[in-house]
This record gives sequence, structure tokens and C-alpha cells, in this order.
Amino acid sequence: MKILVINCGSSSVKYQLIQMDGPEVLASGLVERIGEPEGAITHKKHPGQPDEWEIELTLRMDTHTAGLTKVVELLCDPKEGVISKASDIAAVGHRVLHGGEQLYKPSLVNEEVIKIIEDNIPLGPLHNPPNLQGILVAQKLFEGIPQVAIFDTAFHQTMPPEAFMYALPYDLYTDRKVRKYGFHGTSHKYVAAQTAKQLGKPLDELNAITVHLGNGSSMAAVKNGKCFDTTMGLTPLAGLVMGTRCGDVDPAIVSVAAEHYNLDFAQVDDLMNRQSGFKGVCGLNDMRDIHAAIAKGDKRAKLALNMFVHRIKLYLGGYYALLGRVDAVVFTAGIGENDSISRRLICSEMEHFGLEIDQERNDARSREARFISKDGSKTAILVIPTNEELEIANQTVEVLHAESLI
Ligand code: ADP
Repeated sequence: MKILVINCGSSSVKYQLIQMDGPEVLASGLVERIGEPEGAITHKKHPGQPDEWEIELTLRMDTHTAGLTKVVELLCDPKEGVISKASDIAAVGHRVLHGGEQLYKPSLVNEEVIKIIEDNIPLGPLHNPPNLQGILVAQKLFEGIPQVAIFDTAFHQTMPPEAFMYALPYDLYTDRKVRKYGFHGTSHKYVAAQTAKQLGKPLDELNAITVHLGNGSSMAAVKNGKCFDTTMGLTPLAGLVMGTRCGDVDPAIVSVAAEHYNLDFAQVDDLMNRQSGFKGVCGLNDMRDIHAAIAKGDKRAKLALNMFVHRIKLYLGGYYALLGRVDAVVFTAGIGENDSISRRLICSEMEHFGLEIDQERNDARSREARFISKDGSKTAILVIPTNEELEIANQTVEVLHAESLI
């Protein structure tokens, strides 16, 4: 059985076609910089296999539709494709950000599910629209094939009320479901399970802090294998300093910014989601560009990096306080997996918490799950490549079983 997993971000689409017996990745790829003058698709067939085929295309893609249509062409390529026709796929699993309090369990897409995703756009303005677009495009490109939505909020449903409630008038919760939901749940769930395996511990005995650092970043305090608290909130705007999102700020700043720039609420929301974070501080939103700018002496870029690290340290300390015992701190996603500089800065002067990073292990490049702490340190530090796609594919198959579709 083949499952296609689609993860539509604001300007990117990650995809994997997975043969579930194995499981084996048949093809994977990344569509980047949608909407920018120069977009790119990197498509790989059989990663790691002898007949591997990789193609890098540079092309302008104004919409997600354009990007996904090209992906289907590559998958069905007469010479190098891995399927001959779209109907060779059993189901498409979609990463979806927000289904509110109504919907967080993996769900077969129908009109009602689409409506709930649409209704929750205000809670995920950067993600729900491209997620929804991915579903609508896939419904057309893979006509008649089941589409399954896997929600980013699911893993965080175990948070206790003292973690998920905001200290606001209670009827904002009862009437409007205003509460912390948390995101990147599929990644935090996968990484927590892999950490337990790496430590040789049952998952339900694992206490860990999972640190997902990408364009969007979040952390989770995992207690006995379950989410106890997380940095993102009602929306993915809260918590850490991110590529274009501000993370935690004094809520009074909303009206100050509105007055200063003469903006309405939606415009302030946009300012905080798309014009803030690294981009707001130094004009750059990609960590690789930030390092390059720092090397040239850019002080604002250095400030952005320092703010990013400072905020992560604050949450690390807080989560140590909540968890008591921390078996592991685990880095994942684009920055977490690849940026040894950020990892070193985050873990520096944390020996009193039992965090001791090994410089050589930290600097070694690898795509494998690995320990980067010194032998014998109290808390293990790991890098675990996230695999949201496999997690989504597994949950998609579970839905197909539950719905008696296989
Ligand atoms: P998304 O949240 O869109 O899934 P990713 O997990 O792909 O994002 O992470 C993107 C971030 O990872 C970008 O800031 C990018 O600069 C950073 N990144 C990717 N590779 C490296 C690298 N080798 N060194 C430093 N940062 C990197």
C-alpha cells in the first residue's frame, strides 16, 4: 500500500510517497519559495537506493496548486516515476494545523472536516489556508482517493488545564474555546517516541524536553511520554522567536502597534505573524542567511540570534522546573537538526541543569539520530531528525482501517 503525505507550509510543500510494507520511502521532495520570483523543487526517488534519481528544478510557482501539479508529474514521470497513475496511491495524508477543540483526532476528509479547517483559519492564518489548499488540490489530482487530515494539535491534548488555560475571563474559554492548543504535535510525538527508543526506556517513563526549531519553532515538556506543556498557544504565534513570528510579547503591544502603524486587528496579526521574528529584527528570516550576515559583522542579525537563544533558554529552565527530572533535551527540525551553532549557544552554561554538550559530537554532520552530550552527563542531549511524514502515514493507515476502507 502506498500513502502520499503532503505537508503544505506557507511557502513550501514537503511530500513523501511511502510504501507502507517496510516502510520504505519511494520518493520524497521539497517545493520551496512558492510565490517568490525563483522557486525550487528538489525531488528524490528511492533515497538511499542504488537507482536513486534526484532532480533539482528552478521554476516560478505562484501557487501551491502549481507546485503540487509539478510534483504529481514527477511522481508519474514515464521514465523515472515511481507510480504510473495517481490511482496507484491508497490515500493521501495531510498535515493540518488547526481543527480547534472540535477536531484534533485523525479524520477522513469530508465536507464537514473541510468546513472546520476553514472555520479555524483565524487560529492558523499562515497554515490552515495552504493546508486546505493542499487538500483541495489533492482531491482534484487524486480523484476518488481517500484524503486524511492529521492535526498538529493532537499530541498536546494531554496538557492539564493549568497549562492550557489563559488567565482571562472564563467565558472566553467556554464561548470561544480560547485556550492553548499547541502545534508541531506530530513532530513532538514522533521525536519523543524515538528518544525513548534511543534511551532504551519505555515511552511512558520518559521525561524530556523536545525542541523543534524550524521556520516555526516550538518546545514541549513531555512527562511520562505525554505532553505536559508546550510553547505555542491558541495559535502558532506564541512562544519562541521564529523566522517571521514574534513569539511571546506583552499583549499590550497589540494596541501600541495598532496605534503606531495605524492598523486594524487583522493587520496587527499579520505584522506579528509575517513581519516579526528574525525578519522584524534584522530583515532576514532564514537561519543560514542570519549566520552569513553575522559573519559579515551584521549586529542586528547577531541580536536576532541572541534573542532566539535567550527565549529557548528561558523555556528550558521553566520546563526543568515543571518536570523535575529531565532524561533528555532533544533537538529537531531544520535548525535543530542542522545548526550546531544554535545548539551550542542554547546548551552553553547549562551544566548546573545537567546539560553538557560535547563539541565534537555537536559539530559532526549526520542525518541519523545521535547523542551530542558528553558521556555521563545527567541529561542526555540528542539530535533526532523528525519524521512527521512517517507518523502521518501511519496515522492515515489507522484511519483507513477504522473507516473499513482497507
Ligand atoms: P519548516 O518550519 O518550514 O518546516 P524547517 O524545519 O525546514 O522549516 O527549517 C527551516 C529552517 O532551518 C530555516 O531557518 C533554515 O535556515 C534552517 N536550516 C536548514 N539547514 C540549515 C543549516 N545547515 N544550518 C543552519 N540552519 C539551517
